[in-house]
Amino acid sequence: MSKFSVLILGSASATPTVNRNPTAQLININHHYFLVDCGEGTQLQLRKYNINFNRIHHIFISHLHGDHYLGLMGLLQTMHLLGREKELFVYGPEDLKTILDTHFKYSKSFLKYPLQFKAVDMEQSSTIFENDKLTVNTVVLKHKIPCTGFVFREKPKTRRINPKAIEKYKVPKYAINKLKSGTDFESPEGEIIKNNLLTHDSLPSYSYAFCSDTAYFEEILPEINNVSLLYHEATFLEKDKKLAKKTLHSTAKDAATIAQQAKANKLIIGHFSNRYTQLTDLLEEAKNVFENTELALEGKEFNIAESQ
Ligand SMILES: [Zn+2]
Ligand SMILES: [Zn+2]
Repeated sequence: MSKFSVLILGSASATPTVNRNPTAQLININHHYFLVDCGEGTQLQLRKYNINFNRIHHIFISHLHGDHYLGLMGLLQTMHLLGREKELFVYGPEDLKTILDTHFKYSKSFLKYPLQFKAVDMEQSSTIFENDKLTVNTVVLKHKIPCTGFVFREKPKTRRINPKAIEKYKVPKYAINKLKSGTDFESPEGEIIKNNLLTHDSLPSYSYAFCSDTAYFEEILPEINNVSLLYHEATFLEKDKKLAKKTLHSTAKDAATIAQQAKANKLIIGHFSNRYTQLTDLLEEAKNVFENTELALEGKEFNIAESQ
């Protein structure tokens, strides 16, 4: 069964608290796991939600503020201690490689499994991952240090075979792939059977944009246009706009305005400042601009395919 979901592992900005963890999210696309950001304690959150570490093959780090990557070293080490053998890909700013290498050098430790580090261009958006079903693009954000978001987009899907019609028209196996791509079937006797008699329409392609730490920045709009689900940070309320400007973060209203302009189907907000005890205030502020908004709280799983 097809699956496209986002599990929130951390929603706090800056420091972890007893109830909230710094940023990390697990994207599940047809049971392939992608970890996005890896704040302190992420491995404990993965354990809490029964995620098998071995199924994570790709880790994306948005930027080098500690609340987005300090959990990485611990997670990499635990994967080693658990006997991981499978290759792991880590994508992030070039300097992250130096940080990792420095740790391994001075701790005189190594990893049993191959770690492939992929430096991300922090100045212009690019495709950093692609397979036959999916692309992951970066989106350059506006923050105190270089920072990118990540956009996951499913490629257009093939048409779905109608087994009853295949039987009825006696379509041989070798013709199935062509039917999926939309061509008509020509029988050995020369009879043409229209494709739409043999297949159902393809399922929609879904998308998810993760916009990590950023000031309000309209230049991201073309990159996140029409996404099924948008995560946008909302560190502050409008009443603290000055702080947002100073620290290059967004308010809940900023996040909602971006969602509205990008024509996102749904918005989730996170990276909340610990100064707010009532997160509902942030939610309400966002909903006033973009109704279909939810808080990206720890343990919440957003099923993108079902959110349409
Ligand atoms: Zn942050
Ligand atoms: Zn930051």
